[in-house]
Amino acid sequence: MSVRVRFAPSPTGALHIGGVRTALYNYLYAKKNGGSFILRIEDTDQNRFVDGAEEYIRESLKWCGVEPDEGVEQGGEFGPYRQSERKEIYHKYAQKLVDAGKAYYAFDTPEELDAMRERLKEARVANPQYNSITRTQMKNSLTLSEEEVKQRIDSGEPYVIRAKLPRNEEVRFRDIVRDWVVVNTITLDDKILMKSDGMPTYHLANIVDDHLMQISHVIRGEEWLPSAPLHVLLYDFFGWDRPEFAHLPLLLKPDGNGKLSKRAADKMGFPIFPLNWIDPQTQEESIGFREKGYLPEALINFLALLGWNPGTEEELFSMSDLIEKFSLERINKGGAKFDIEKAKWFNQQYIKEKPNSVLVAMMTEQLELTDRSIDMERVVQAMKERITFVSDIKESGNFFFEAPSEYDEKTARKRWTTQGVQVIESFASALEEMNEINGDEAKSLLVTILEKDEVPMGRVMPAIRLSLTGQGGGPDLMEIISILGPEESAGRIRRAVAALSEFVKD
Ligand code: GLU
Repeated sequence: MSVRVRFAPSPTGALHIGGVRTALYNYLYAKKNGGSFILRIEDTDQNRFVDGAEEYIRESLKWCGVEPDEGVEQGGEFGPYRQSERKEIYHKYAQKLVDAGKAYYAFDTPEELDAMRERLKEARVANPQYNSITRTQMKNSLTLSEEEVKQRIDSGEPYVIRAKLPRNEEVRFRDIVRDWVVVNTITLDDKILMKSDGMPTYHLANIVDDHLMQISHVIRGEEWLPSAPLHVLLYDFFGWDRPEFAHLPLLLKPDGNGKLSKRAADKMGFPIFPLNWIDPQTQEESIGFREKGYLPEALINFLALLGWNPGTEEELFSMSDLIEKFSLERINKGGAKFDIEKAKWFNQQYIKEKPNSVLVAMMTEQLELTDRSIDMERVVQAMKERITFVSDIKESGNFFFEAPSEYDEKTARKRWTTQGVQVIESFASALEEMNEINGDEAKSLLVTILEKDEVPMGRVMPAIRLSLTGQGGGPDLMEIISILGPEESAGRIRRAVAALSEFVKD
């Protein structure tokens, strides 16, 4: 049997990062098994439809490198891939169930449904449901005569179609992650399959499409596990083979305390969406992982390990490594803590490995550089081991672009000595003689001066660094001198000496 999996988001807003993980696991499983990954847009809930959400989902998947083989954009043999374009199909299948006695028409008004729930509550029924018991008291094609049903439908009375669940039956299926799931139908209700607006509900559309699109494995978030018994029953009602199921563990807040929500992420100051998103209703703007400065490879590596483990201590996986190693059997049951610090760590690792030219291109998009010409590739090389995001180069390496206007006071107090100032002034003079300088040359120039006065290197280096960068720490000092150039470096030393005179001590 060929592997066919799908990611089936509803375009109700921005794609949550948990959705990206679901898409990723589907993608990995498809690629691992030479199968197909399908993107199906589940847009049958007209009330929750949000403009731009579908495009956002597609763009997000593209950015992450999780591209569908079949879908709204790619097309394919099993289309259309947007459920709103498949309405007729669902009608046909709903009708089949009604004809087979597995589903029925229900005409109850919202008031009648409320009254039923009230009655049950009064009778101390904990979880009032429209089910095998209550349906016998309601207005539906099980209680009304055939003639009356026909007449109501013909006269245009609104109705829904409900699944007719058996009274007391065990539904069993084996989930690849959770193992056996056993539920008695007594706990389930007669879910609506077709709504009064003529649209199918998620449950009907989802299983009809999974069947027609020949989905072999349903890999989705754990929040759908409670719906799975109904889905299994529907497969059985239709006489269709069931797909395999794998329900992925929840994503938890970084401290493991509860579900990862947008609110929690906002509070802790990290993104929850892959790309920037402006909510069309509220105009609220949310920053995406991409705009925050995460590389897609880093995000993918991080997400892959949130709920799956390779069975080794290895942590760094490219997409092709993941495809090779991935298996549904190694998905964890327990919720996965969304440890954002780990995400940052992955970003650092991938930034270190990126070619300088790529990082420069990313930077120039973000920077408004002063006109002083500077070798950006060298700046990037000097900084790339020390940053989490490319934007950090501009922040903690701002001295490459602008001379410091302030100096770290603690360093000044500690490191600004009469002797040190003398040495760095001589160093400035020596630099002024040069047009350009590499790191080794800068070092031997300094060593020559130091040797003459018998001053240890460690005593003046912090003062030079302070003069050039305003900071107490940073990348290799001689490399900084070389990148800034001798003239700029000397000028900065002179300015620091003038600015910090009050700190001079013996
Ligand atoms: N449309 C559902 C969602 O928004 C799909 C759930 C499933 O994969 O079955 O997540």
